[in-house]
Amino acid sequence: HVATVVSGTELARQIHKEVQSDIAKLVAQGNRRPHLSVILVGDDHASHTYVRNKTRTASLLGMSSSTIFRPSSVSQEEMLELIYKFNKDRSISGLLVQLPLPAHINERAICNAVAPEKDVDGFHIVNIGKLCLDQRCMVPATAAAVWEIIRRTGIETVGKNVLVVGRSKNVGMPIAMLLHSDRNHERPGGDATVIMAHRCTPLPRLKELASLADVVIAAAGVPHLITADMVKEGAAIIDVGINRMQDPVTGKLRLVGDVDFEAVKEKAGFITPVPGGVGPMTIAMVMKNTVTAAKNAPTY
Ligand code: ADP
Repeated sequence: HVATVVSGTELARQIHKEVQSDIAKLVAQGNRRPHLSVILVGDDHASHTYVRNKTRTASLLGMSSSTIFRPSSVSQEEMLELIYKFNKDRSISGLLVQLPLPAHINERAICNAVAPEKDVDGFHIVNIGKLCLDQRCMVPATAAAVWEIIRRTGIETVGKNVLVVGRSKNVGMPIAMLLHSDRNHERPGGDATVIMAHRCTPLPRLKELASLADVVIAAAGVPHLITADMVKEGAAIIDVGINRMQDPVTGKLRLVGDVDFEAVKEKAGFITPVPGGVGPMTIAMVMKNTVTAAKNAPTY
């Protein structure tokens, strides 16, 4: 059999509708229209594309947004001052600083400067702490995207084996945190048996672990790391990788995931494509987080 290809684009459309109607309700009740502010440093092409996607989606859903551009020479001081100013600005519901930042800026210091209640990326140390304690919090958008894909597709996790490939603090770790934790806690988890693989996991070991997994979440940033011979028949494969590769034939840049999609599709039960899988859902979850921030904002 061939896997069901899970369209992140389609699921994102559903979430967009929900967020749009939430915004309409908020505004109809006399609240301020939610506003997303983004700080974008430098001229990294991918970062500019992501930010454009976020602000464009925000406006499609009835939110206002603004992007503040700074050159890669910006000082950490100036970044912090900007963030403090935005934290105080009551017209701003959600604030995110697009990562990565130039090497002379301490990303942790920047993430921790954003007011936790406006932290729509969920990278503030308090939000991460709450995530790890199964408390309600801003969940990082990529992890939230994976969670929603699993839930809305009806992929079971309770008591299942989940392999998370990648342990980054922004992606792999929060995904593993959501999936291993208890469904009855304040912030419900997936109750799965979660294993994390990372760059020290030998390839034969990765293969062995993948063959046991009911769900594989690939977030390693290695093109086609997950091949058909590794995965269990009928497994759900969620591809978080976004790798820009030059097509050997056309010479054009194209996006490929961490999963060998064409081959794995023949064996899996569910599979997400790249592009059109986790990517659009991640944007949708930033939108959802922004509305959550707006709802939680003090009304004085
Ligand atoms: P992302 O932001 O998508 O998580 P990073 O580059 O920050 O990407 O992190 C990549 C993660 O993938 C790291 O945790 C790293 O250990 C893991 N990784 C890299 N190569 C492999 C590999 N061959 N097998 C398993 N995990 C890997």
